[in-house]
Amino acid sequence: MRRIVKTEVLLSRQEIEAKVRELAEEVSRDYQGKNLLLICVLKGAVVFLCDLLRLLEVGAEIDFMAVSSYGNSSKSSGVVRILKDLDQSIDNKDVLIVEDIIDTGLTLSYLRENLLSRNPASLRIITLLDKPERRIAQIKPDYCGFSIPDKFVVGYGLDYQEKYRNLPDLCVLLEFA
Ligand code: 5GP
Repeated sequence: MRRIVKTEVLLSRQEIEAKVRELAEEVSRDYQGKNLLLICVLKGAVVFLCDLLRLLEVGAEIDFMAVSSYGNSSKSSGVVRILKDLDQSIDNKDVLIVEDIIDTGLTLSYLRENLLSRNPASLRIITLLDKPERRIAQIKPDYCGFSIPDKFVVGYGLDYQEKYRNLPDLCVLLEFA
């Protein structure tokens, strides 16, 4: 198995914090008086969800979904399996899907169709990171923190083989041994 030997900071914790604050202000403005339900896509988006949630000035419920794409871990196949479904109905809720990163868009494309079939009052997508270069599915987030180049990133909740989620900065993997 390859072992990562070096990481380089792409986005510092301060840059991320400032951006999450901006996003929370936007979401708070847009969801005044609504029935906001944040749906966090496990596991990578957990850190983003928690930071965002604490900065919101509107009430919000939260729920979680876990999905996995069939095939190996670093390439999306587009075939998505639900590992954990929501605990509640989203009927009449203003759903905001909280993602860590959109890459090919295949995962979100599946999730969006799946959730739309459950009759939410509205459905939008917020992602901290976007890699538009690699997009395959027609997915455009309604709220996006940063567009980043086509590099594999870890930290701030994102993993490589379940490691590195704890890094407070967003880092690029540089070398393998
Ligand atoms: P998509 O279906 O858009 O190709 O894949 C989205 C999912 O792939 C993300 O939720 C994330 O789990 C994973 N992913 C895509 N790019 C990266 C990356 O650069 N780093 C990490 N850690 N995960 C990624």
